Amino acid sequence: MNKYKVEKTEYLQKILDVEAYSKQEAIEQVKKKYNLQEEVLESNDLVKTDIEIFNPNKFISKLDILKEKIDKFNKDRDWDQFHSPVNLSKSISIEAAELLECFQWSNDKYELEDVKEELADVMNYCLQLCNVLNLDPIDIINNKIDKNEKKYPIDKSKGVSTKYSKL
Ligand SMILES: [Mg+2]
Repeated sequence: MNKYKVEKTEYLQKILDVEAYSKQEAIEQVKKKYNLQEEVLESNDLVKTDIEIFNPNKFISKLDILKEKIDKFNKDRDWDQFHSPVNLSKSISIEAAELLECFQWSNDKYELEDVKEELADVMNYCLQLCNVLNLDPIDIINNKIDKNEKKYPIDKSKGVSTKYSKL
């Protein structure tokens, strides 16, 4: 049995070690394990035992680039030392209050530029908290929506704002 390195190139790239008798079998193993339907390509640039499983969704997301930018901003200023989970949680709450301030005296009159800035502050700190706690923001939001779908079945919650415990 040979050892193959299979690069699974989805949203996050991952190199997998696979034992198989052939490249094709290695590819099939990975496809089966991850339920992949993608087209499989072999690249000449890779060494003989490397196989790339091509995924058309392969990309560095805007979120990845943004996270790097935030990280650099903080590293350049040596601010990571201040970013404990509790400090970041406080900052989220403070910025959320600043967002609310945009609507303080009127329900329908607000400066969109101010809203954009405060909303950005809130989300910036949310991303930083995810980073510090090693959480994937997309995963945790996805998981929470899955939970909420169970908590708020459509037949009971459609068109009503009642809390799940009172449905
Ligand atoms: Mg602010």
